[in-house]
Amino acid sequence: MSIKVTKVACQSCGANLTIDESIRFVTCGYCSAQLEIVHDPSAVYSKTLDDVVKRQDAVEDELRVLRLEKSLQRIEQEWENFRIRVSSKSENGTIVEPGKAGPILFGIFATILCVFLFGFGLSERIWLIAILGVAGIALSYLITQHGLRRAKEFAHMRTRYLQKRTKLKGELASAERALRFQPMKRSGKPSKR
Ligand SMILES: [Zn+2]
Repeated sequence: MSIKVTKVACQSCGANLTIDESIRFVTCGYCSAQLEIVHDPSAVYSKTLDDVVKRQDAVEDELRVLRLEKSLQRIEQEWENFRIRVSSKSENGTIVEPGKAGPILFGIFATILCVFLFGFGLSERIWLIAILGVAGIALSYLITQHGLRRAKEFAHMRTRYLQKRTKLKGELASAERALRFQPMKRSGKPSKR
């Protein structure tokens, strides 16, 4: 039984290896690289096994980047939807987020108006107006409190959203870095210059 031998260059160090044609996996005697011998109809060449593993790693890194990009887009969209839903629109179409200024301004004006009503009712002895004034003061207080609570909740949600976004962006940046460095980790023939 004759053994057909063939010559193949090690993909890792470039050394010429003489191998049995029937062999599929071989370890380079010069650099110890694990090689897969590929028998194409046109040529026989070697492929380092590390490369196969690294290509898989690269694909996984790519998927990770895509997944993180999608998550980032999703939470940004969700936040934008929420923001628009809880905000009011001013006459010129700009969005006014729930804040403290609105409820405070409302509270001041409404209270002044109601105190004035109460004083007027008292001095003119029109008791209904005086009672309406007192009720108005209480109502203004409740409405103002409600507005302030909403503003606080909104600020809390924004903080949570920003924290989540910062975390995702950090993960995305490191996943992108891993992806960029992938080709450099690949052991190949060092290119001659
Ligand atoms: Zn080698």
